[in-house]
Amino acid sequence: MAGIFPVDVGPQYEGEVIRKADLYVEFGGPNVKSKFELVTLRGADEVEDQKIETIGPDIKDMKEGGSYPLALMIDVAGEKLEKDMEPVLERRIHLYTNYIEGLYHMNQRQDIWIRLNKDSFNKGLNSLEEIGKILIFLYTSEIDIIEKIAITFVTDEKKVEELLADAVKIYDERDEKARGLKEEDVEEFYSCALCQSFAPTHICAITPERIANCGAINWFDGKAAYKLDPEGPVQEVKKGDLLDPIRGEYTGTNQLAAEKSMGAYTRVYLHSAFEYPHTSCGCFQAIWFYIPEVDAFGLVHRDFAGPTVVGVPFSTMAADTSGGRQVEGFLGLALEYLRSPKFLQADGGLKRCVWMPKEIKERYKDAIPPDLYDKIATEEDVQNVDELVEFLDRVEHPWVKGEVELPI
Ligand code: SF4
Repeated sequence: MAGIFPVDVGPQYEGEVIRKADLYVEFGGPNVKSKFELVTLRGADEVEDQKIETIGPDIKDMKEGGSYPLALMIDVAGEKLEKDMEPVLERRIHLYTNYIEGLYHMNQRQDIWIRLNKDSFNKGLNSLEEIGKILIFLYTSEIDIIEKIAITFVTDEKKVEELLADAVKIYDERDEKARGLKEEDVEEFYSCALCQSFAPTHICAITPERIANCGAINWFDGKAAYKLDPEGPVQEVKKGDLLDPIRGEYTGTNQLAAEKSMGAYTRVYLHSAFEYPHTSCGCFQAIWFYIPEVDAFGLVHRDFAGPTVVGVPFSTMAADTSGGRQVEGFLGLALEYLRSPKFLQADGGLKRCVWMPKEIKERYKDAIPPDLYDKIATEEDVQNVDELVEFLDRVEHPWVKGEVELPI
């Protein structure tokens, strides 16, 4: 592919990681507040085909080693495209940017983190327009029902911040749509293997009550993705027989885990962090972690920079949780899963949660039982496990008082 573009392009570059020493610039990530990616389906007359626009400073104007805001917005049009396909096409940004030599993409929605290395910058990948040309090439060659496509990159900080508020509303609407449907109501689940380039034994099981780890693909999105590309990374899974209604064990998802992990795992509990938890790739939005001193759980999200109550930050914990393994007591998950009626129900769910960052506690207030809200500590209440024990006693947390009955 080199020749058409300044750098090579292909699946061989998936899994390529860019370390700080090789970094030319990065967009998003933990050092940048405003960033997101969004795909929008529009009418044919609303999309100027192949148009690429950059609003704000371009890569060549940026300081080497710098971190910058970014809104990556893709508009598509096509008679056979459906609104439900937007999140699926959006997730392809992860796949396609990782096909580009020297470009690395992590996470999704308002959590994106894109890194460009020095080698590719020096080879000529020095403008967002070049990246846009490659993305358009990949989208139109791989998804033939896209009739028109246009890409806008925004790096102006203020503008990204303004646009982000609207994007978050759209993400919320998508999540809202999936609420209410139950695992019992459907015969098919979906699986996603997109993260196998980074975590070869990882496979996401997506059910109506368990959104994928990255938070970008819910059950409806899985359905749309499979319809869009039946040979693609998202596949339909017959859920099979229900072996354990509390832990969420199905013959279909066990078979899926065995096949896709190449035998590394043969059982998976969709709603428990113990024994056979769901595998964690690297794109998860948050980690649910066991705190042995109180026999309860904490939750930390990717953007929380400080140390958690157990003394380590998200990044350290992520290294121990990720890689496509089943790690008992450590689970990478999507924050929307907190709203699922089956949220880790076998372990006590949110009633067993004793610590989470204040930002998440506020953002997901609707998911937390009202009588528990003030009893979950945050970084403002406690700094370590000793203080946590004292806090939980003082507020009479129901789990610590032995008032929470496990369903098994
Ligand atoms: S986290 Fe899961 S659903 Fe999301 S891209 Fe990775 S494998 Fe797919």
